[in-house]
This record gives sequence, structure tokens and C-alpha cells, in this order.
Amino acid sequence: MASAFTHAFVAAVAVAVVRPSGSACRLYGVAALCAVLPDVDVLGFAAGIQYGDLLGHRGLTHSLLFAVLVGVVATLLVCPGLSRGSARWWAAVMFFSCATASHGVLDAMTDGGLGVAFFSPLDPTRYFFPWRPLRVPPIGIELFFSQWGLQVIAGELAWIWLPGLAIGAGAYLVRRGIVRSLRSPSE
Ligand SMILES: [Zn+2]
Repeated sequence: MASAFTHAFVAAVAVAVVRPSGSACRLYGVAALCAVLPDVDVLGFAAGIQYGDLLGHRGLTHSLLFAVLVGVVATLLVCPGLSRGSARWWAAVMFFSCATASHGVLDAMTDGGLGVAFFSPLDPTRYFFPWRPLRVPPIGIELFFSQWGLQVIAGELAWIWLPGLAIGAGAYLVRRGIVRSLRSPSE
């Protein structure tokens, strides 16, 4: 995983950019929850599930199928007023699915552990992207306050938080028409 904060941050940027209709606070919260949910699989370590198993870390809960299932459940819970199967309902499903799938995308950009089983359970192959600038974070809060943890934070700040803040700020400026007014001050 990238750190849970960074997974949640990416989902928050997606909410800021897409701005789906609905309560902003609730959308930020649910999208962030979707983005961190795949790491629920770390609970399996205590139950003896191995990293490379179907239900192991970065396994089924990091798959695209899981992301779609979470997207459907989140939509049913968060948007009960939407007509099931309507274009807006599917748009909400897609949004929450993408928020969930963003988790695996970030994990596949880390430099350690096993890859991400994007196509589980049909294909158990673990995948990494060719470009992996993020250090894999330690599992365990105490190790986060180590040299390793600092490298994780520095990498995520550089490659995720700074671009994400720029994208969020850009979306805000465009939405507020500030960019347009700067181009045409007479308007
Ligand atoms: Zn993960």
C-alpha cells in the first residue's frame, strides 16, 4: 500500500475535480473510505492468510472486481434516491469504483512487496507498473517514524500530494471562472 492518508487524499482530489452532486462532506468521507478499504486484507495476516493467497495482501480486495462491488454498495448506501440503472446511478457507481480502484493503482507504483492482483479472482497474477516511484510503507505504525517512514512520506509528497494539490487547485480555479477572468479582464 501507499500510506492510508495518501489513498484517501487521491479520492478527495477526485471528489474536488469531479464534484458529483450530493453532500460534499459525505462524498469526501465515503470516497476516502472506498480508497482505503482494500487494505482491510492486512487483517488476514493474523488469521494465517499468506501474502500471495487469493485473500492475501494486494489480492482480491485490490482487484477491479472488488472496486466495482464497492462502487455499487457505496452508491446504494450514499445515493438511495438515484433510480437504479439510470445514467446518474451508473455514473455514481463508476465514481466510487474508480475511487476504490485508485488504491491498487497507487500500490502498483510502489517498490516493494508483491504486485497487485488487478484481475483476481480470474487471474491471480500480481502486477506492478513499470514506473514505481513510491517506497512501500512499513506495516506497523512504529516503523513509520523511522528513516524508511520518512522516505515514504517524502516520495508520496513529491509524486502524489503536490500534483494532487495542483490538480485540485486548478479545478477550483476553472470552476470559479478565475482563469477565464484573468484571460479576459474586461468581462
Ligand atoms: Zn493496498
